[in-house]
Amino acid sequence: MSAGIDALKEALPTGAWTQDPDLIDPHLREWRDKYFGKTPILVTPRTTEEVATAVKICAAHKLPIMPQGGNTGLVGGNTPQDEVLISLKKMTAIRDLNTTANAMTVEAGATLQSVLDAADEANRKFPLTLSSQGSCTVGGVLSTNAGGNHVLKYGTTKELVFGVEAVLADGSIFNGLTSLRKDNTGYDLSRLFLGAEGTLGIITAASLKLFPKPGYVQRALIGLESAAMAVSLLEAFRAGGKLAMFEVMPEIGYRAVVDNFDGIRDPFANSHPWYLLCDWEVETEEEGQSIAENVIGKAFENNQVRDAIIALNETQAADILSIREHMSAGQKFLGGSVKHDITVPIDQIATFFKRADAAMQNVVPGCRPVGFGHFGDGNIHYNIAQPEGSDREAFLKNWDALSQPVFDIVDTLGGSISAEHGIGIMKREDLAERASPVKMKLLRAIKSALDPDRIMNPRVMV
Ligand SMILES: Cc1cc2nc3c(=O)[nH]c(=O)nc-3n(C[C@H](O)[C@H](O)[C@H](O)COP(=O)(O)OP(=O)(O)OC[C@H]3O[C@@H](n4cnc5c(N)ncnc54)[C@H](O)[C@@H]3O)c2cc1C
Repeated sequence: MSAGIDALKEALPTGAWTQDPDLIDPHLREWRDKYFGKTPILVTPRTTEEVATAVKICAAHKLPIMPQGGNTGLVGGNTPQDEVLISLKKMTAIRDLNTTANAMTVEAGATLQSVLDAADEANRKFPLTLSSQGSCTVGGVLSTNAGGNHVLKYGTTKELVFGVEAVLADGSIFNGLTSLRKDNTGYDLSRLFLGAEGTLGIITAASLKLFPKPGYVQRALIGLESAAMAVSLLEAFRAGGKLAMFEVMPEIGYRAVVDNFDGIRDPFANSHPWYLLCDWEVETEEEGQSIAENVIGKAFENNQVRDAIIALNETQAADILSIREHMSAGQKFLGGSVKHDITVPIDQIATFFKRADAAMQNVVPGCRPVGFGHFGDGNIHYNIAQPEGSDREAFLKNWDALSQPVFDIVDTLGGSISAEHGIGIMKREDLAERASPVKMKLLRAIKSALDPDRIMNPRVMV
């Protein structure tokens, strides 16, 4: 390995690599403290050519590589174990923004927030929002095919990309940057890199789709009796095609946020078993108020809601969104959590909760399910908090014992064991065990074709 590391140090310019433990350390730990890593060298290229130089040397010396963006991934695919760590954090330029083509070409290390801001300044919308948007990067969200809060209307990241520029495992550069909406010239090669979690190459830039900015966003927060009640509202709420967000939170998770974070308060006078957060994208404030009053009013008449707040201004809208944005972080106040990111068909959400909640009590009596998230996509972050007063580390030893029944139920209901976070290290064995042999054969064939020496994120996914 040391000859390859020496070759990297010699070929790359000063400042494009480091072995300083203090500079490397933040790249080796993720925000939940679940994974800790190690690497012989951190490479921080500033150009696509520097990425290509580094990959060519790694290929020649058969050194394994892990690409890293904002290090906010949740399945361990961003924490190295002796791979050369290539961070894209210095490649942040917006190369082009074209409002006629509604396209933006941006480098992989740009944060999602910087893309959102640039689109906004150009009076456009890039419809991907995640709680981690201040840190996660274009390369990371493309590589995990991130979902977030607007999938209901705009689709996952895969739907938001025209094409990518990527450095392949042999160091060659694939240029798929385009703003063409029509191009039927063979396999869609850019798409191979979306959701590939760095296993096929390193994304260095992407051409992203922009959308018209809505005239007004109407937001509402609704108190509900049950998760089933939230699902029962979906059809009426999305009539007219204006519904852009449909996020659900259980009382335990909601309370962990409003009771613990400074500056976040509960806008309701009373507690509710479940909460629903909705956005409608409309032309005017009047239209927004009218849609929200109409559909929520009907839901009141049908006894489907307990209470509701229709945001009357931007501050109120931002305040209620902030509760949802703190849901992941809020769970730290409940102690240790075993986390799942699953999808089931939307009409099976209530059945999922009934079966999974019972199964969890069989494994760890007293554990506390916190199932929240993008119910409009059937996506539940089904997290299990430790029983009150129990030992954190002892509880976390049950990770697999709790996960397997959840995945069994998901499989029975025709769902997916990874909705939006990916496979990473965490679910690699589960994928191999649960996916069909034909699917695994295809995944492995694509991996072998693009990365025959298995140097690109070799411990991840497949
Ligand atoms: C608080 C919080 C909330 C979140 N909410 C959501 C959510 O709502 N929806 C959702 O989908 N996800 C969510 N996530 C997880 C999500 O996966 C990440 O936020 C994001 O997609 C990862 O981007 P990143 O730049 O941090 O990538 P990293 O964490 O650095 O990397 C993630 C994976 O992508 C690979 N990778 C990174 N950059 C590149 C590149 N340039 N080329 C090739 N491979 C690369 C890495 O090797 C790794 O396998 C959340 C995470 C946090 C911490």
